Amino acid sequence: MLDYPKRQFTAFALWLLVVPVAVWLVYDRFPFETVNYGFLSANFVMMLVALSMSFKVFSNSVPVERWIIFVVFFQYGLFAEMIFMQIALLTLQFLSKSSLPPLYRFSTNSLMFTLVSIFSAGMFYLAGGSTAEPTLWSFTFAAIIYAISYSLINSLIIFCMTKLEGESTENEWKLTIWDLATSLVFIPLAVAYSLLADQLGNYSLLLLGAPFLIILLIIKRFAFSGEFQEKLSSAVEMGHELTDSLLTDEVIEKFIRKIKHVVNYDQLYLLDVTRQKELKLLTCSEAGEIAENSLFFTCDPDSYHLMNAEKAVIHPTAKEIRKLTQFSFSNSVQSLLVAPVIRSGTTEGFLILTSFRKNFFEDLDKRMAELLTGYFETSIVKAYHYEKTLAISERCGLTKLNNFRYLTKQMTREMDRIRSGELSDLSAIIMDIDHFKSINDTYGHQSGNDILVTFADILRKYETNDRTLARYGGEEFVLLLPHMMKEGAADLAERIRREVEETLFTIQPDLSKERKRIGIRLTVSLGVSSIPEDTDSESSLLRNADRALYIGGKQAGRNRVGIYEADRSKPIGI
Ligand code: GH3
Ligand code: MG
Ligand code: MG
Repeated sequence: MLDYPKRQFTAFALWLLVVPVAVWLVYDRFPFETVNYGFLSANFVMMLVALSMSFKVFSNSVPVERWIIFVVFFQYGLFAEMIFMQIALLTLQFLSKSSLPPLYRFSTNSLMFTLVSIFSAGMFYLAGGSTAEPTLWSFTFAAIIYAISYSLINSLIIFCMTKLEGESTENEWKLTIWDLATSLVFIPLAVAYSLLADQLGNYSLLLLGAPFLIILLIIKRFAFSGEFQEKLSSAVEMGHELTDSLLTDEVIEKFIRKIKHVVNYDQLYLLDVTRQKELKLLTCSEAGEIAENSLFFTCDPDSYHLMNAEKAVIHPTAKEIRKLTQFSFSNSVQSLLVAPVIRSGTTEGFLILTSFRKNFFEDLDKRMAELLTGYFETSIVKAYHYEKTLAISERCGLTKLNNFRYLTKQMTREMDRIRSGELSDLSAIIMDIDHFKSINDTYGHQSGNDILVTFADILRKYETNDRTLARYGGEEFVLLLPHMMKEGAADLAERIRREVEETLFTIQPDLSKERKRIGIRLTVSLGVSSIPEDTDSESSLLRNADRALYIGGKQAGRNRVGIYEADRSKPIGI
C-alpha cells in the first residue's frame, strides 16, 4: 500500500485527469439549463445541514442528502447537479473534521461523485428519462432507475476503495442493500419535490423541502434523546451495582460484563498506569472470556505520552487504528474507543473497547464510556480500601501473621474443598512456646514480644501459597497443611521443633539496668492431627492437635511433637 503523500499525489493526479475533462464534456453535451439560483441556494444550505447531520438507523448511516441531489438533477440536469455536488464537497471540506489529508479527501470524494453523477445520469437517459418534457410515468420510471444506479455505482466505488485501502469488505454487501433501500425510500419524495418545484417554484421549498428537513432533525433529536435517556439510566444502574461490590475482582468483572449493556463492544482491555507512568494490561475480555493475558492485544509500556489522558477518543477505522503505534490488535478490529480512567485529576488507567465494525462507536458512546470509567474508578477505590481494612482485621498487629479470625475462615474454606473432593488430606500443627510466661517475667514483656516476632519469622519459612500460618492465641501458632498426611506433618513439626531449639533469640531485656543485647534459647511443643486419619470434622481437627500438644508435647516433658492417635487412649510423643 502507498503511504499518504504518494496516495495524495496519485489521487490528485487522477482527479486532474478526470474531473475537469468530465465537467467540460458534460457542459458541452448537456448545457446549463435555466437555473433558479434562489431555489438552488436554499437547497444547498439544506443539503449541508443534511450532510453534517450523520443520521443513523440501527447504527447504519442514512444518506439523507441524497433526495436533494436527486431534485437538483431532476430540475436542472447533470451539469448543475455535478457543480452543485462539487461545491458542496468543497464547503464540507472546511466544515467537517477529518484526520485524512484535505487534498486526498477532496480528490477522492470529488472523483467518486463525478463518476456516480455521470453513470447514474447515463442510466436515467437510457431509461427514457428526459429533463425537458417528461410524462409522469416515464419520468418516475427513469427516476427509479436513476436512484438504483446512483446507489449501486456509489457502493461499487466505495467497495473498490475499501479493497484498495486493504480493509475488510465483509460488511460491504449489507451496506449496499441498506444504501439501495434508503435511495428507493427517498426517490418518491424527490420526484414529488421536483414536480412541486415545476408547478410552484420556490413555494415547494416551504411546502416540502424545509418541512422534510425539519422532521428529520426532530426525529434525530428525539431518537437521540430517547437513546441517551435509556443509556444514561442503564449507566446509573450500573454505577449502583458497581459500588455495591466490595472486592476489586468483583468490581472488574461486573464492569466488564455490564458495560456491554451501555456501550457494546467486541473486545475490552483495561490498562493500568503504574507509578512510573507505564502502561500495563490489567485484564481483558476477548470472545466473552475474561482473562489477565490477551491472545491478540499488545501494548508498548512506555507509550503513556502518546495517549490522550483527559478525554475519550474514537478511532473509527482500521486505517486510523494502524496509526496507533503503541498498540497492536487482532486483524478483525475495525474501530476503537479509548477512555481514560481518572481519579482526582490523575489518569490511573485506560479502557479500550474494540469493534469488528468500522465507524461503530458514536459520540454518545464516548460520553457514556467517560461516565462509566468514573463509576468504575470510584468503586475500585472503595473496594481496594475495603480489602485493605479486611486484610488488617485478619492480621496480628505484632507478628503480622494471620490471626484467629483468618484461620477460622481459612479452615472453613479448606473443609469446603474436602467436601467437594478437591482436597483429600489436611493436617494441622499447633505450636506453643514452652515456659513463655517465665521469659516475660525474667526479661520483660517487650522482650517477650521481640521473641514472638522472631518466632513468627522462623515459622514463615514453612508457609507456602497453599499452607496457612496463623497466630492462634498468645504464644500459640497454627500451621494448616493441605495435601499433607499425618506422617509428613509430623516430620515437618519435628523440623520446626529442632530449628527453634537451635535458634539463638536475641533480646534487649528491659528489666536489667544495662540493657545489653543478650541471646537466649527456648523450646516449643507441637501437636499434630490430620483429616481423614483422625477426624472428618473441622472443629475436631484443631481440638485433636491441641490435645496432642498437651499430652504428647507438654505432659511428656515439653520440646516434643505430640501426634494425635485416635485408637489409643492418649497421644504419643516423639
Ligand atoms: P507452657 O510451657 O505450659 O506453655 O508455659 P507458658 O508459660 O508458656 O504458658 P502460659 O499459658 O502459662 O503462659 C503464656 C504466657 O504468654 C502468658 C502471657 O503473659 C504470655 N503472652 C501471651 N500473649 C503475649 C504477648 O502478646 N506478648 C507477650 N510478651 N507475652 C504474651
Ligand atoms: Mg499457651
Ligand atoms: Mg506456652
